[in-house]
Amino acid sequence: MSSKQKFVYSFGGGTAEGKGEQKALLGGKGANLAEMARLGLPVPPGFTITTEVCTWFYDHGKSYPKGLEKEVAAHLGRIERQLGRKFGDPLQPLLVSVRSGARASMPGMMDTILNLGLNDRTVEGLAKGSNNPRFAWDCYRRFVAMYGDVVLDLKPVDKRERDPFEVILEKKKHARGVKLDTELPVDALKELVREFKAEIRKRTGHSFPDDPMEQLWGAVGAVFGSWMNERAIVYRQLNAIPSDWGTAVNVQSMVFGNLGDDCGTGVAFTRDPATGEDVFYGEYLINAQGEDVVAGVRTPQKIATLKDRMPAIYRQLLEIRKTLESHYRDMQDIEFTVERGKLYMLQTRTGKRTGFAEVRIAVEMAEEKLITPEEAVLRVNPDSLNQLLRPIFDPAKKREAIEGGKFLTRGLNAGPGAASGRIVFLAGDAFEWAARGEKVLLVREETSPEDIKGMNASEGILTARGGMTSHAALVGRQMGKVCVVGCESIHVDARARTMVVKGKTFREGDWISIDGTTGEVIEGKVATMPSEVLQVLLEKTLDPRKSHVYHRYAKLMGWADAARRLKVRANADQPDQASNAVAFGGEGIGLCRTEHMFFGEGRIVAMREMILADTVEEREKALAKILPMQREDFIGIFRAMGPRPVTIRTLDPPLHEFLPHTPAEQEEVAKQSGIPVEKIARKVADLHEMNPMLGHRGCRLGIIFPEITKMQARAILEAACRVRKEKIAATPEIMIPLVGHVRELEDQTQLVRDVAEEVFRAEGIKVPYLVGTMIELPRAAVTADEIATVAEFFSFGTNDLTQTTFGLSRDDSGKFLPEYVRREILPADPFEKLDQGGVGKLMAWGVTWGRVTRPNLKVGICGEHGGEPSSVEFCHRTKLDYVSCSPFRIPIARLAAAQAALKEKAAEKAAKKKAKKPAKKAAPRRKAAKRKGARRR
Ligand code: PEP
Ligand code: MG
Repeated sequence: MSSKQKFVYSFGGGTAEGKGEQKALLGGKGANLAEMARLGLPVPPGFTITTEVCTWFYDHGKSYPKGLEKEVAAHLGRIERQLGRKFGDPLQPLLVSVRSGARASMPGMMDTILNLGLNDRTVEGLAKGSNNPRFAWDCYRRFVAMYGDVVLDLKPVDKRERDPFEVILEKKKHARGVKLDTELPVDALKELVREFKAEIRKRTGHSFPDDPMEQLWGAVGAVFGSWMNERAIVYRQLNAIPSDWGTAVNVQSMVFGNLGDDCGTGVAFTRDPATGEDVFYGEYLINAQGEDVVAGVRTPQKIATLKDRMPAIYRQLLEIRKTLESHYRDMQDIEFTVERGKLYMLQTRTGKRTGFAEVRIAVEMAEEKLITPEEAVLRVNPDSLNQLLRPIFDPAKKREAIEGGKFLTRGLNAGPGAASGRIVFLAGDAFEWAARGEKVLLVREETSPEDIKGMNASEGILTARGGMTSHAALVGRQMGKVCVVGCESIHVDARARTMVVKGKTFREGDWISIDGTTGEVIEGKVATMPSEVLQVLLEKTLDPRKSHVYHRYAKLMGWADAARRLKVRANADQPDQASNAVAFGGEGIGLCRTEHMFFGEGRIVAMREMILADTVEEREKALAKILPMQREDFIGIFRAMGPRPVTIRTLDPPLHEFLPHTPAEQEEVAKQSGIPVEKIARKVADLHEMNPMLGHRGCRLGIIFPEITKMQARAILEAACRVRKEKIAATPEIMIPLVGHVRELEDQTQLVRDVAEEVFRAEGIKVPYLVGTMIELPRAAVTADEIATVAEFFSFGTNDLTQTTFGLSRDDSGKFLPEYVRREILPADPFEKLDQGGVGKLMAWGVTWGRVTRPNLKVGICGEHGGEPSSVEFCHRTKLDYVSCSPFRIPIARLAAAQAALKEKAAEKAAKKKAKKPAKKAAPRRKAAKRKGARRR
């Protein structure tokens, strides 16, 4: 930091040194105060100490840069001149507030000090000036307590401890026989100030600082210090705010809303933050300070009633509402104070809002032509669409449950939405209970493919183990189920039919609720609200013309589709999932996992016979039983998808997942196949693998058992031929999984092509089809040029590619990854957000080299990242053709793809503009170069 650098920026009195766009330097609050002052709004004068000083403070053992003190003194002098008051003056004292203000809003996470500048002399000046000694002494006792808590560190650190000033205050009220603080007379307040100061001396060994300048520097240090308090650190982690941003400090002259009935204070939003409705929304209190509104001691009034109480102020506020919205072109959250009939604006910032409000405000502002449709697309966080697409908890009921102590624990938020149901521990029970009309939640240690029927029948799924790409997470998401996984603090005993959380035992049939958006698990039943968009799109129970929510959703999606380049497909393996995908705007299927088809009625036994068979003939006989069923599955999917491309993956999971593990299952296979049960048991033991994820799975299955690939290719192509005969242009893309070497792909591709020839000859019709591969292993990515000699398309299987690149088990990572994220060892769970710096590099390499060999190579992604906004943006930048995700995430991916395209467009425009500029600027730059040169010489 150079000594010439400016550390302090003033605002107020109709001007400001800073600007709204300087949030990085001045923090959100400081930048907006400056902007409001520039707009001519009534802002009490003050100044902002920059975030750079905060960074310097931490880099230099909590000290300040040289020159800061002088600058602060000069800015203070400016306020004094503007207001005709002086800091520390016993007659006309200037009082200030000292507040934090980071680049991103961190509500309530850092510290604030109000009424700074009061001491035994200035309090008298305030008493005289306000003509209200009670008010002055009340400010003083609040200031001493606040300063003691925040600057002198007397705030309790533990829930069991009580605030020392609260204890003294309680005693005083008791002694004076009053209930409310406001009932304490002046002499009691004076005693309180003395007692507070004595307490400070006792606890810290130092006297309370009387010198206002000393108070100010103490407060500045405390606010900078609060950037690193535990609350702020946790908040930053949750909201991905880097710790090196730092906070600014805003020092602002105090205005008082508690000097009488012509005073007041309030907070308001320029539109309703819950619904997004275009109404002025907020609350105020007459004769009160800001903290009274927040503390909830008195019940605030609705802002609309201010029209009668203070008509002129209300009119002025409505004007300001208009000015701010048209200036910021977004909904604002404001704080104001009225002092003796004069309005002051203390804060404006972009208002936080629900997902519903986010969409409504963006769409309506575009309709009002305040912003463009493209801006509306950029305004909505793609994940917020979940609120429109999923059932949600009735917010009041959820709050009630949590405040009533019903919160149990938190897991990974794998499938958004809200679900309440009765606990069942076995998938079969889930199915049976649901069939008799019960709402159930399936609670498992973890799920496996055998559970899908029960998962489908459940309102939601809760597992004790597993990460964001565990079976429960990805299958649950694909089905559109609410899902919380990796909830390590619950202990599930499926045999005993119990779940224990925090020492509390829950049994089968007990009600619990899970919030898949936040990962919360709540005891009991919490009321949910259905999604209007789903009622229109999937259930078809609501007329689209009757749903405003749907209308706005559809409008936003239309704008997004016009802007995006990336196509969006679905991961779907059942005809109903395929129909959902189309309803959500899916442009194809990017991954049809065929393994779930083997668990259906009558199939698993045939599959087991196939695995346990000794000869090719036996294997073929078993597979022949599955062929017609599998063909029917594909026919259903092709019909649902029409001419859209359908990527079907050949069998992928480790064989052991299909094996009959229990004696009863082994008996059944023995009965069906005639193989002795002992032999089956032996074979099961032989097939046991130490590390099945890296074992006999993926294309290795089809290489060792070519009959499987052949049967599947036949089923796919026969289905395609038959559907084509119905005049539906089925377009299959056959995808070989877990390829690491081009020879593996050659082997499997040849099988598929041979079968295709046979099928086309027999059916008397040819269907265009592609054969491609998943890129799921680092070796496949780095040999993409070789692999593309055979593959007609690539699809990045980033679940496995993440697993194999990190060497990190996707099923076990839930045990320790959250700690990695908490400690910022990794910025996010790489199974949830694509690791762009590692896995992403392999992808970029794969795309580039794949297209060197085959320039028109079609490339997509079908790992779970295909529906995660930051990963979708990466896929756009890396020039993929499509992303594929669960049907319920399609709208999110469409929006994220549009945002990626719009951001790119904006960046290109900015680059062009920059490229044009140098012509004008060239001269000074040359001059600078000359100057440098001159010095060197
Ligand atoms: C992947 O690995 O990314 C993938 C889509 O395949 P699966 O999750 O079925 O292993
Ligand atoms: Mg995979």
